[in-house]
Amino acid sequence: MWQCISCNIRLAVSLFFLLTASIVTAQQIREVPVPNLRDVSIATFDRYGPVIYYNPKALKKLGPQVAEFVRAHEYAHHAMKHMQREKQSNQDISMTELRRSFELEADCYAAKKVSRESALAAADDFSKIVGSKRVDSVHPTGKERSAMIRQCAGITS
Ligand SMILES: [Zn+2]
Repeated sequence: MWQCISCNIRLAVSLFFLLTASIVTAQQIREVPVPNLRDVSIATFDRYGPVIYYNPKALKKLGPQVAEFVRAHEYAHHAMKHMQREKQSNQDISMTELRRSFELEADCYAAKKVSRESALAAADDFSKIVGSKRVDSVHPTGKERSAMIRQCAGITS
């Protein structure tokens, strides 16, 4: 019986790349507790791939609803490829402006993912606790973040 050997090889090669591509895109984001972390949580990459480091005590202090929001916010940084986009950015926009815009993007993404109660709890914390201050120079003010979360979660009252 005639067999197309090169066709089989081509098929095998395509299958290999297809599988590899799906493994890479579905690469799992690990969540790693770091007790002495200065931030509540951060999204980054280590040598094993995408990772979220979090301070378990600090996260617990925020309560389950705000913690759910914070977790979704860190996943958003990975989903929206903020670390890669920061590296590719041209210098037309300052790094501070770029990072602040990424923080608002992550807040909006998270606000749409979590429950309405969690979005509301996070928005309230940002407006009441952080207020017109910033947690650091790369984050928007608490009031800006609160407004973004409310808008993206569709909270009008
Ligand atoms: Zn962030």
